Amino acid sequence: MKTLQELTRPNIWSLAPYSSARNEYSGHAAHVFLDANENPYNAPYNRYPDPLQEEVKEKLSHIKGVPAECIFLGNGSDEAIDLVYRCFCEPGKDNVVAICPTYGMYQVCADINNVEYRNVMLDDDYQVSADRLLAACDANTKAIWICSPNNPTGNNINRDEIIKVLEQFDGLVIIDEAYIDFSREQTISRLLSKYPNMIVLQTLSKAWGSAAIRLGMAFASKDIIAIYNKVKYPYNVNLLTQQQALNRLNNTYDVEQWVRMLLQERGRLMTAFAELKICEKVYPTDANFFLAKVTDAQGIYDYLVEKGIIVRNRTRVQLCHDCLRITIGTREENNELLGALRSI
Ligand SMILES: *Cc1c(COP(=O)(O)O)cnc(C)c1O
Repeated sequence: MKTLQELTRPNIWSLAPYSSARNEYSGHAAHVFLDANENPYNAPYNRYPDPLQEEVKEKLSHIKGVPAECIFLGNGSDEAIDLVYRCFCEPGKDNVVAICPTYGMYQVCADINNVEYRNVMLDDDYQVSADRLLAACDANTKAIWICSPNNPTGNNINRDEIIKVLEQFDGLVIIDEAYIDFSREQTISRLLSKYPNMIVLQTLSKAWGSAAIRLGMAFASKDIIAIYNKVKYPYNVNLLTQQQALNRLNNTYDVEQWVRMLLQERGRLMTAFAELKICEKVYPTDANFFLAKVTDAQGIYDYLVEKGIIVRNRTRVQLCHDCLRITIGTREENNELLGALRSI
């Protein structure tokens, strides 16, 4: 692996970060806060929130088995994705490599940051070899994106190939585990101490049922997290989000029940879907959605919209021609979808 200094943009490496009022005092029990130009009225919303979200990270640290200093929290995973470019990729010079098809935000953020984005097509089983990813890299490749379970295909990417990339690539490897709670595969975050070039992304938006509060996580070495913390907005996670995240994290029982129900429904819905006249293939999945090849994705999509049922039309995505991506809903919602498709 290159040194972290070699991987970091020079201006970011030497950056003197903004120091917020709440960062500057420490070690004393304070009770009069006249430092941040806040209004003393309208508690608790008058005060700036904890810029480093220590309480949430403490809780997550226990749940995830990752040291708090190795956790970054952001305004959704999207913030953690964007920060890869802003911290490590020199616009107009560096590039990144990613599997294709995959989650669209990696490319959107690359385009916004003027960083070249290189696609490596998945094979017919939606898998990729480490060798093909590494062959797409050159001296200016700073990062490789791997989403597993992958969106929109739903499958886990081969763990052996991921490990090989981690061992052989000299830059950062980002593993997006947004759907890991639905997967038979274990999180790769337990290997963080072995691979200092790995960043693991997770989110409260899917299994944790909290897409509205916008809380994404990055797990990485404490040195990578320190760079993230330097570059992020000082108060990037607001108070309401931190409070609601703590409520959610204090009740993990719900999440286990939801995941169990959704996995059961996933099996039932996929079996029923495969029997439909319009269905040509249901792809295996380890996520809370599945991809299905149908006779006419656009026509079926339009028909469902007409009935007030929205699925994701992926027909224009490479390797996904005539595919719909179906998120698992409640039993009633899934039945409504099946009913509509049976009466085509
Ligand atoms: C849904 C999803 C996310 C979550 O993004 P948030 O900004 O945390 O809501 C991240 N990665 C992938 C691949 C996703 O599908």
